[in-house]
Amino acid sequence: MSVTWVTVLGATGSIGVSTLDVISRHTQRYAVFALTGHSRMSVLKAQCLAHNPRYAVVANAAQALVLQTHLREARCLTEVLAGGDALEQVAAAESVDVVMAAIVGAAGLRPTLAAVRAGKRVLLANKEALVMSGALFMQAVQKHGAVLLPIDSEHNAIFQCLPLDYARGMASVGVRRILLTASGGPFRDMQAGDLSSVTPEQACAHPNWSMGQKISVDSASMMNKGLELIEASWLFNVRPSQIEVVIHPQSVVHSLVDYIDGSVIAQLGNPDMRTPIAHALAWPERVDSGVSPLDLLTVARLDFRPPDPVMFPCLRLAREAAEVGGTACAVLNAANEVAVEAFLGRRIGFTDIPVIIEHTLESLVPESVQDLDHILLTDRLAREHALNWLTNHR
Ligand code: NAD
Ligand code: MG
Repeated sequence: MSVTWVTVLGATGSIGVSTLDVISRHTQRYAVFALTGHSRMSVLKAQCLAHNPRYAVVANAAQALVLQTHLREARCLTEVLAGGDALEQVAAAESVDVVMAAIVGAAGLRPTLAAVRAGKRVLLANKEALVMSGALFMQAVQKHGAVLLPIDSEHNAIFQCLPLDYARGMASVGVRRILLTASGGPFRDMQAGDLSSVTPEQACAHPNWSMGQKISVDSASMMNKGLELIEASWLFNVRPSQIEVVIHPQSVVHSLVDYIDGSVIAQLGNPDMRTPIAHALAWPERVDSGVSPLDLLTVARLDFRPPDPVMFPCLRLAREAAEVGGTACAVLNAANEVAVEAFLGRRIGFTDIPVIIEHTLESLVPESVQDLDHILLTDRLAREHALNWLTNHR
């Protein structure tokens, strides 16, 4: 078997580390072409020493110089590059077969799209990229023959529960609706009135999953499920109204597909991202991921309940943006990124997050998307509006 060359965008993050864990279990099968990181340079250095990539990409020239010097001292031949163009270069390079898109937020859009436009197998963790660019992204997948495989555990589950020819349309393959499960995050059992005083530490203490800070806060506000609803509508070409969100506190059923004959097909497993990562890396084959087998007798029970719309307005805002379409989802995403950062920096309270997003959505009239520059401009404008709100509410 010939070796598969992998670029990991966002290697130093939670998904990046899990990806390298899976790869290190199959060194005959996978080799690392490039690793990228924006911070945590000591982690990136250790990853370069362990995986010997041809390239490492960092944020700026100063970081690059330090890392390059350390790597040379350790006799590591990895070449260190810096900046946004270098991210696109290692995502689209001729020798690369697979790109793990695991940068967090809008910063991942350009390199992920570069991988798509180069016709790579793209493992999509960076949901914000697809939320922002929707139709443009999916058209590029079609046009350039990229193979897009979802890493988000819910979307990976749905992919596994759908027939291979699902692109014919949900009605053609007999799907009634998609049931998107949500853990409900750390605040699922709180009262709405208690949310205004929660801290970033509490928001980041997810009961079932260990993840980066931004997605942890998104899980606590349920904006993560909102972004996932938009993500699912693009990935599987379904209307937002065909996607139902269900709170499932155990995070064992990763999502379900409801067929018109009454069959409901689900994918289950322990909550560990190495399962979807290994699935997408090896698809259509299967490889060991290092995840322990699911013991249903220990799990014992699986609970389901509807989300509380008063506690979690972000879910409604995302559904509305999905229905509106055009630039609305890019606005939603940008305002959310600004709000989450402000919450993590203790500049606003947790319940201000949906207020900022709603204000930004109301300030910018949605437009139909023209091209990538239009999306990036929308992203910038939405950030300005959200930041203005912050300045005016100090
Ligand atoms: P993380 O914060 O742990 O890691 C983010 C990575 O992106 C790091 O390598 C960081 O250096 C890099 N990065 C950050 N800002 C950057 C910038 N401006 N330019 C270039 N690189 C930058 O995040 P994570 O939890 O690994 O999540 C990554 C993506 O995967 C997110 O889009 C998230 O929604 C998605 N995702 C994560 C999980 C999970 O379990 N962690 C599950 C599903 C989906
Ligand atoms: Mg998810």
